[in-house]
Amino acid sequence: MKFIRFEVEGSKVYQGELTKDSVKQITGDLFSEWRYTGETFNICDVKLLAPLQPNQIIGIGANYVTKKEDLPSELPEIPVFFYKPTSSVIGPEEQIVIPKGIEQVKFESELAIIIGKEAKNVPESRVLDYVFGYTVGNDVTAPQFFHKDGHWTIGKSFDTFTPLGPVIETELDPFQVKVEAKLNGIEKQNSETELMIIPIRKMISYLTTVMTLKPGDVILTGSPIGAELVDAGAVIECEIKGIGILRNTFVTEKVGAKSS
Ligand code: MG
Repeated sequence: MKFIRFEVEGSKVYQGELTKDSVKQITGDLFSEWRYTGETFNICDVKLLAPLQPNQIIGIGANYVTKKEDLPSELPEIPVFFYKPTSSVIGPEEQIVIPKGIEQVKFESELAIIIGKEAKNVPESRVLDYVFGYTVGNDVTAPQFFHKDGHWTIGKSFDTFTPLGPVIETELDPFQVKVEAKLNGIEKQNSETELMIIPIRKMISYLTTVMTLKPGDVILTGSPIGAELVDAGAVIECEIKGIGILRNTFVTEKVGAKSS
């Protein structure tokens, strides 16, 4: 199933199931109990939003190699994880704002995993039982703001730095997809998820040995080789076939706008 969040005529926010050419409105909690309202919308009449408001967002750093032969035989003992604030989430077609003082930011197309059930100390073999579905994420990054001591938080946290969407697909096989990105129509990233250094099951199982994952938590699983710095005006399309295309445009922060 494909779940979306959407607006109609710029007013209320709804949840729905996206079918071939219509949207069936639903109500309730996606992760526990929901039902159809009976209302249906034409896809042309709705504006897609980020498909969920995450509970929290956890990313993993530098998690892809170029080719299978480059996969390390030994995995790092402590993977590099980081948090992104939920306030950085935007939806499809929204603008990514390049912060004042810098001219470029990096796009990072990623498979985003959405946790559906409380998860603690989950063995690798059972990780997928706790996954609700998948969406496309763009882990926008301003490396200029990485701290010299290695902290990434600021460079990952600006408003608009976490586009998600267009849908949550619950039936995806995450081991059979490619994570792609096109910049201004030109392919920049295109890698199978088997090129992840720390694979999905290991990544999530490890996290659950540290923290309790909750419904609505989003795990950004890392970006394939090929991400690069871009200027205002660029259009980025992050894509995973089966989920869809997450398209956003980069803009410069307007002087005096919303900065207080
Ligand atoms: Mg990333």
